[in-house]
Amino acid sequence: MRIQDDIQLDYCDVLLRPKRSALASRSQVDIIREYSFRWCPRTLKATGVIAANMFTTGTFEIAREMQKQQLFTALHKHYTADELIAFLKENAKNNNNDLIFVSSGVSEADFEKLSTVMKTGLVQNICIDVANGYSPYLLDYIKKVRQTWPESLIMAGNVVTGDMCEDLILNGADIVKVGIGPGSVCTTRKLTGVGRPQFSTVIECADAAHGVGGMVCADGGCTVPGDVCKSFCAGADFVMLGGMLAGHQESAGELSTKSFQTNEVDMIDDKTCAIKLEQRQFKKFYGMSSEYAQEAHYGGMKKYRASEGKVVEIPFRGPIENTLLAILGGLRSCMTYIGARRLKDMPKCATFYRVNRQLNNIFGEEK
Ligand code: 5GP
Repeated sequence: MRIQDDIQLDYCDVLLRPKRSALASRSQVDIIREYSFRWCPRTLKATGVIAANMFTTGTFEIAREMQKQQLFTALHKHYTADELIAFLKENAKNNNNDLIFVSSGVSEADFEKLSTVMKTGLVQNICIDVANGYSPYLLDYIKKVRQTWPESLIMAGNVVTGDMCEDLILNGADIVKVGIGPGSVCTTRKLTGVGRPQFSTVIECADAAHGVGGMVCADGGCTVPGDVCKSFCAGADFVMLGGMLAGHQESAGELSTKSFQTNEVDMIDDKTCAIKLEQRQFKKFYGMSSEYAQEAHYGGMKKYRASEGKVVEIPFRGPIENTLLAILGGLRSCMTYIGARRLKDMPKCATFYRVNRQLNNIFGEEK
């Protein structure tokens, strides 16, 4: 047994130091980056925010909104090949599906479905996703996918250490997805005790991946736009979001309306009053390995598996466009504070403070 005792940090443990800069306004910064990759010969121009391939956020509806803002979507695994192909055909009328990843597990059936979709030539970005990226199946699967489609863009994960990032890249991945346990509806750390604080994960993994010509996607743990900024500053090339994009009109998940009794009353006359009720809408959001997801998408929970995710109901947030604009606005503003003209420059412009407290919630959290 060994204890590694260097300090491991989360996004909430740090804040960015502002710097004197020549940038006079937010309009002078460029949040579109031109990406070129280790294996995939294509270049892409976009802002590296990716909607997570969860059932609730990796939807066609979200993808349409994401790409309007030059952002990516990893479509979830539960669409059938026919559904995916129909969407990709329709979507390719407006663009070339460059901002869309199709997701795959590592089973034979996953490969067959992926082949059916890839054969159409409609999409070339693949997200290979397993909970434990240290499994030998992942490496083998990446090799097979790289061999079969040498020009595809492959993102694979999840891992949290530099050595494994290097392995995945050297075996064919362009982008490694990093993060075990930081997710908003993830209970892996609680159930298994395994995980690593996400900010430190991103710093180490980005450094390792960049060293061998690869990239990282920081997956999970962002709760506010500032966390997305911190993630890019820590070296992430892409940031994947689940919870921040859930609960919108375009997200999947059951919508419900609930009534609440407030502390306020309506005066009817001097002596009588009525309790004031308030109605609020909620949308269901759940972890992909929660018992709920296992029941909904895999026909029940297998006995040997434990639930590593939870189900929550989050206040309905309306159209996703407002949230996306807030994230991009936060990013531009962060870049002017730290003097980064280009997205790619953020890490070299960043100095972090370690902090004990980052937000003042005296009046409660903003709704
Ligand atoms: P969020 O942005 O909500 O904090 O994190 C999203 C990420 O959480 C997803 O991209 C995925 O990697 C992870 N995730 C989603 N569902 C589950 C789950 O049921 N269990 C675990 N361990 N992670 C999950």
